[in-house]
Amino acid sequence: MDVQLTLHKMVERAEKLFPKKQIISRTASGIFRYGYREMGERTRRLSSALEKIGVQRGDKVGTLAWNDHRHLEAYFGIPGMGAVLHTINIRLSPQHIAYIINHAEDKVLLIDQDFIPLIETIKDELKTVQAYVVLADNSELKDSKLNPLYSYEDLLAKADPQYQFPDDLNENDPAGMCYTSATTGSPKGVIYSHRGITLHSMALGLADTAAISESDVCMPVVPMFHANAWGMPFAATWFGSSQVLPGPWFTPELLAKLIHTERVTITAGVPTIWLGLLKELENSGEVYDMSSLRAVLCGGSAAPLGMIRTFETKYNIPFIHAYGMTETTPLVTLSRLKSYQTDLSDEEKLVIRAKQGYVVPGLEIKVINDNGETAWNGEEMGELLVRGPWIANAYYNDERSKDAFKDGWLYTGDIVTIDEEGVIRIADRTKDLVKSGGEWISTIDLENALMGHDGVFEAAVVGVPHPKWQERPVACIVLKPNASVTKEELLDFLKPQFPKWWLPDDIVFMDEIPKTSVGKFLKATLREQLKEHLTV
Ligand code: ADP
Repeated sequence: MDVQLTLHKMVERAEKLFPKKQIISRTASGIFRYGYREMGERTRRLSSALEKIGVQRGDKVGTLAWNDHRHLEAYFGIPGMGAVLHTINIRLSPQHIAYIINHAEDKVLLIDQDFIPLIETIKDELKTVQAYVVLADNSELKDSKLNPLYSYEDLLAKADPQYQFPDDLNENDPAGMCYTSATTGSPKGVIYSHRGITLHSMALGLADTAAISESDVCMPVVPMFHANAWGMPFAATWFGSSQVLPGPWFTPELLAKLIHTERVTITAGVPTIWLGLLKELENSGEVYDMSSLRAVLCGGSAAPLGMIRTFETKYNIPFIHAYGMTETTPLVTLSRLKSYQTDLSDEEKLVIRAKQGYVVPGLEIKVINDNGETAWNGEEMGELLVRGPWIANAYYNDERSKDAFKDGWLYTGDIVTIDEEGVIRIADRTKDLVKSGGEWISTIDLENALMGHDGVFEAAVVGVPHPKWQERPVACIVLKPNASVTKEELLDFLKPQFPKWWLPDDIVFMDEIPKTSVGKFLKATLREQLKEHLTV
């Protein structure tokens, strides 16, 4: 049957089948809990309220919000009535946020109280916004320069609890949009269709991927403004999993507590989050019971092998390394052993699982370089290309589309190897790769090795201009508290693992590595700081 894959069907299923399943949402005023029936009703009210304040099909509605239940309602209430959910990265600069809102032509903004001051500073630049909604109730509303300003709870209270989601939406209509966090140039937007998100959610439920199911308690730590929290809120709602939404300003301690008390089974985030959690577990002794966790999903940047080993061997917490981008909804590959690899030694298995894995069903990948498609030998490097039903086909209204979308493929800008099992290993982003005397050096490999040293907490390697070799690697290191390790010790540690010409020309110790808005190493800043390090 030609049935349209639209998002409101997920919430309709959840309210009918899983009214007893809980959503646990941490808000500024404490923990809030409710079941899917109430979540569904509030989602209907939101759709109806948006219609009442003038939102029409195809309009963009921006969110500046934490991971909480109101944001979850927006995930369904906005596309449910045919509008487009535009999740905005709250950690971008005010200029970028203004650019994004204008570029997307957002008509209404849903804003957490915390971000009202930020929006006030740019309100005069916003060309298309016709109304602001504070994600709070009337009593919490503070004086604001934004106008007109509604309280979310007030709008919901006056809205229709029995609102019927339109059943004539087309699955190819836009449901969501998200901008990549620009490290250079202005942010680039991508559109997600109802169909793309639905098929992506389906993929998250497959036994060989994240296997999200009704029995899970899902906690997306990855922000709901970062590639839809990797699709977890959609899949969890559709499948009736419990959800734990960690809310504003969380700390590693708070995450550990939530996992412990809410018996979280699967959680997702970038490596820096998990390094933080590990530190908390190491410092706190046996306080937390982590035994409920069946999977920590980790992506966004490379998960260091040493970190995976510690999680699994010391804390018995299974790790799943995955790869994707904003442009890919985001899941592309996920690292799982194949059935015939179970007899390998623990270390051999770990080496495979620390790679980014093989492509999930539904997508196709290939790796190309100047000689055409690379051999599947785990050695030849090339750029990763992806295509499939949940891959964006352009940047939204952006000239730069032609550089990334060619011949029906997305050119990811990631340099990878692919081995005989189809497992990819990300060597670098094109712009991060060190080009030394015409040869490429993978900064991720060096970082991974350095983070395997007992005294190292974080390691970021960047290419620094060099008079003879064009660029040479320099390693920036944050040591663990109380560790004392010298540059020579670290270089000796690397020597047996790499060819001599791969070894960093210098090791710079720092208190902290600068991070992007989503917690990745900010290599552009490091490169700028170190640009004369090897020339003067
Ligand atoms: P941004 O471009 O702002 O960082 P994205 O989250 O879309 O936003 O970043 C996607 C990029 O992150 C990928 O192109 C890749 O370079 C990197 N990445 C994602 N997952 C991994 C991973 N598991 N290992 C290494 N790099 C990764």
